Amino acid sequence: MNRVYNFSAGPSMLPVPVLEKAAGEMLDYEGSGQSVMEMSHRSPVYGGIIKGAEMLLREVMEIPDDYTVLFLQGGASSQFAMVPMNLMTKSGKADYILSGQFSTKAYKEATKYGDCKVAASSKDDNFSKIPGLDKNEFRSDADYFHICLNNTIYGTAYRELPNTGDVPLVADISSCILSRPIDVSKFGLLYAGAQKNVAPAGLTIVIVRNDLIGEPMEKTPEMFTYKTLAENESMANTPPCYSIYICKLVLEWIKNEVGGLPAMEKRNVDKAAVLYDFLDKSTLFTGGADKGSRSIMNVTFVTGSDELDAKFVKEAAQKGFVNLKGHRSVGGMRASIYNAMPREGVEKLVAFMDQFEKENG
Ligand code: PMP
Repeated sequence: MNRVYNFSAGPSMLPVPVLEKAAGEMLDYEGSGQSVMEMSHRSPVYGGIIKGAEMLLREVMEIPDDYTVLFLQGGASSQFAMVPMNLMTKSGKADYILSGQFSTKAYKEATKYGDCKVAASSKDDNFSKIPGLDKNEFRSDADYFHICLNNTIYGTAYRELPNTGDVPLVADISSCILSRPIDVSKFGLLYAGAQKNVAPAGLTIVIVRNDLIGEPMEKTPEMFTYKTLAENESMANTPPCYSIYICKLVLEWIKNEVGGLPAMEKRNVDKAAVLYDFLDKSTLFTGGADKGSRSIMNVTFVTGSDELDAKFVKEAAQKGFVNLKGHRSVGGMRASIYNAMPREGVEKLVAFMDQFEKENG
């Protein structure tokens, strides 16, 4: 078997021990005589899986008891609407930081539902960094303040959280969830699509402080209402059963094999440093993100020539380093090095980049 090193931004690599465990349990999950894909979501055996996944997520992320965990469908993109529909219900105001394409989409969606303000933006810098923040731009009566913690397309991430006082901080953590410890108590709500660090696509995780789960805006669909979803413990309809099961296996891997999120962070920081250190010395490749905003999950770089970029992506794929093409909106290259990418994959990529530089630099 020849597995590639997959640098895709998502869906992306899953840990091999997780895939092996899932394969072993494929036909007969723990003596139930069926695959997790086939079982009723209301069955006791599946109840154990979803409850187990939630308990492990709470343990691994150290989620305080006054927060509800929801396992939903619809992708992170659905949260762009669900957050305002459920939270923009008091003053009808929300502040947004634009640090990339997804936070801009979140902002645009929210403008349909209320008075949204751009509190800061790095658009003029082509989103190559997290924008500087001016507290005078924050509204103290906003219902929430929205950020995207890791910007998948541009390879930037927050080093420090904005201090929003009593205004609940809401964050899209799609591309950094489970990559390092996060102090959940600093947030009113966190959301993430699972297809990078957690599970196959189809699962969206929402972690919301209980006091923020109230009556939503009028005409909010029932399936978009946090209150309904929370009251039904993510079973208001059929949840993404198999993705939740893989999520449980991934959490077991992080807890038992990696040693929890502090150990995961160390792995990820060291792994990203292999690539950034090479980029800083390279005479051919240049990193895309400002040094002070670099992400440990997505690393963007260019050669300065579109032809050479294309040649690099093609030759890399022939060597088994796949999906290195940058997002269609920015070009260049991007190596997404999520939790499941082994350090060895990054070391081998760097060796290939070094050779490419010698041949083409
Ligand atoms: N936010 C971020 C930071 C993302 O990276 C993505 C997907 N790449 C999205 C939102 C959209 O997620 P989904 O496809 O699950 O709707």
